[in-house]
Amino acid sequence: MKHIPQRMCVACRKMYPQNELIRLVRDNKTGEIKFDCDKKLFGRGAYICKNIDCIRNAEKKRGIERHFKCAVPKELYKAAEELI
Ligand SMILES: [Zn+2]
Repeated sequence: MKHIPQRMCVACRKMYPQNELIRLVRDNKTGEIKFDCDKKLFGRGAYICKNIDCIRNAEKKRGIERHFKCAVPKELYKAAEELI
């Protein structure tokens, strides 16, 4: 069986297999935070569970902001909700 790396959700702080989480990456050049849907983007990543509670919690607790140490537009959370 293939080993799947475990990553921590920024909202609930539990470890899950990487492929069960939404990955966000901060672009090193522009500082823009984007979804890494194809798992092809490089850079520092943050992960959130694919559920509404974790996305809302991440927004409330500013989990992604704290992870990347920069502002996260509200639209990003809205977009995350649409991904699940
Ligand atoms: Zn979570």
